[in-house]
Amino acid sequence: MALDQVLDDLEREAGIACTAEVRAVGCGSINRAYRVESGAGPVFLKVNTIEGAAMFAGEAAGLEAIREARAVETPAVVALGETDDFAWLALEWIEFRADPQPAAERLGRELAAMHAHTGSYFGWHRDNTIGSTPQPNTPTEEWIDFWRDRRLGFQLELAVRNGLPHECERRVREVIGGVERYFGDYRPEPSLLHGDLWGGNWGATRNGVPYTFDPAVYFGDREADLAMTRLFGGFGEPFYKGYQAAWPLAPGWKRRVALYNLYQLLNHFNLFGSGYLGRIREVLGLLDR
Ligand code: ADP
Repeated sequence: MALDQVLDDLEREAGIACTAEVRAVGCGSINRAYRVESGAGPVFLKVNTIEGAAMFAGEAAGLEAIREARAVETPAVVALGETDDFAWLALEWIEFRADPQPAAERLGRELAAMHAHTGSYFGWHRDNTIGSTPQPNTPTEEWIDFWRDRRLGFQLELAVRNGLPHECERRVREVIGGVERYFGDYRPEPSLLHGDLWGGNWGATRNGVPYTFDPAVYFGDREADLAMTRLFGGFGEPFYKGYQAAWPLAPGWKRRVALYNLYQLLNHFNLFGSGYLGRIREVLGLLDR
């Protein structure tokens, strides 16, 4: 069976002995996930087809960058590898509580501390993925160039190939063409970002320690992370209070929420299809004002 090969590989790469106990756990949006018992404690194992290897390599590098910043907890990488047919990523198992909300204020504070880790350019030393979509991170010196070309422009080209309606394409091109107008004289620092911070990508332990996972890391405007927290909800006022108390956002951030979420929504259109057109039209409407 295919999973047996993955487990053999995991034992070899991580130097751990897995027991026969393997349990499939709640579906992620992209991969299959398992809890594997091992001599060194439980392991969270994500498995995808071999095409997922680059995605897992980018995810593991992102988790390590977040851990190195020592601001927000994130699961440690146990090992990653490939069999003939499958790519896999093994992480420290975190016992999450059902309702993470009691840890939301702390997550806000710790995310601000993570954002205080800055780079010397916008982008990252490697490309990664957002969901399973490629995410190019070739550095730029100017944030506005980065957001226009590496983010909106890149997803737009994919979306056009995936059948984005002409009227949406035309509007997104207008937004891209005039992107400076959303910034005025705001010039963000290159903060270490989670990159895919929706409500399904954080949790908390029973002791109230917040964790983020499944990142799409790069150096960029911290407002992009915060905009995404508002896209599908799941964070709550204490989170924003915690963040603002630690490092208040610059005036004018509200104008850019739709600009940042347009990227995430184009990606959702590219990953999951036309069900996201309504939200795309909604943010385009906000960007008209
Ligand atoms: P996908 O990339 O497929 O979306 P995720 O990394 O988001 O998968 O994980 C799917 C679910 O598994 C999460 O919503 C979370 O509840 C749980 N999970 C993620 N990481 C861990 C971990 N290290 N330990 C235990 N459970 C985890």
